[in-house]
Amino acid sequence: MAADSPHARLAQITHSLYAYAKELQAGGVEGFPSAPSVTLPPSSMPSSDQDLSGSIADSRVEMVEYQSQQAADAPAPTTAFLASASDAAAPTAPAEEASLAGVQTLAELRTEIGDCQRCRLCERRNTIVFGVGNPDAEIMFIGEGPGYEEDKQGEPFVGRAGQLLTQIITKGMQMQRSDVYIANVVKCRPPENRNPEPDEIAACEPFLAKQLEIIRPRVIIALGKFAAQTLLKDKTPITRLRGKWQSYHGIKLMPTLHPAYLLRNPKDKRLVWEDIKAVLREIGRL
Ligand code: SF4
Repeated sequence: MAADSPHARLAQITHSLYAYAKELQAGGVEGFPSAPSVTLPPSSMPSSDQDLSGSIADSRVEMVEYQSQQAADAPAPTTAFLASASDAAAPTAPAEEASLAGVQTLAELRTEIGDCQRCRLCERRNTIVFGVGNPDAEIMFIGEGPGYEEDKQGEPFVGRAGQLLTQIITKGMQMQRSDVYIANVVKCRPPENRNPEPDEIAACEPFLAKQLEIIRPRVIIALGKFAAQTLLKDKTPITRLRGKWQSYHGIKLMPTLHPAYLLRNPKDKRLVWEDIKAVLREIGRL
């Protein structure tokens, strides 16, 4: 297939759409509104080498082929983010919670996690990304899971999305990363940055719950769908949750959009800034 052929251009468009959908997903968008299907009369169906605007049938073929390839390559289906929050909020393992009952410090918790093999995310991780920051923080940011850079460096939010979060903290909040605490729902990188599966979240959630219990921040900022829905056990889309105060075991929780989403949708930074200002007002810094 020539690089500038209609088929190649359609394939590029399809790849771009897929990448865009992943970014929306990272920001918590649950899906797309459905539209009535359109049936083209046979006379309007294009022949195989007609121009791009007439190649609707070809684009469908490319989409199906591309989705099939993704399904073969990716451990999780591309529609995994459409799974209900009740899946994402699978119950945590009681045995794990019991084993953490005597843990009182973050260092003890890290020791307890050890070289964790409690879920399949251990298989391809480089490092367990435990969390970083002030153990007495007033504000705790919680994201979804480590990405490539985080897995390499062992610290949460150090890739491109992390740099944006750092700007929010330093330039927006006039604080340092070391003033807050930053952690994720799962501590090991899902392969190819796929979404964490419900059983993986359930396996790792007791560690996050213990971090929250030990740090006991005044405010939790849940970044994106997985953090918000895991902590709140609420399947409401993040686009509707964001900006409204919630409660996690008596701790005030502000759901907002994930920085990875903002990288592709910078116009929505203003929404996150509104959420951050509400947090700053809550702790008396605005
Ligand atoms: S993601 Fe959590 S539960 Fe799974 S292996 Fe890593 S530390 Fe253990």
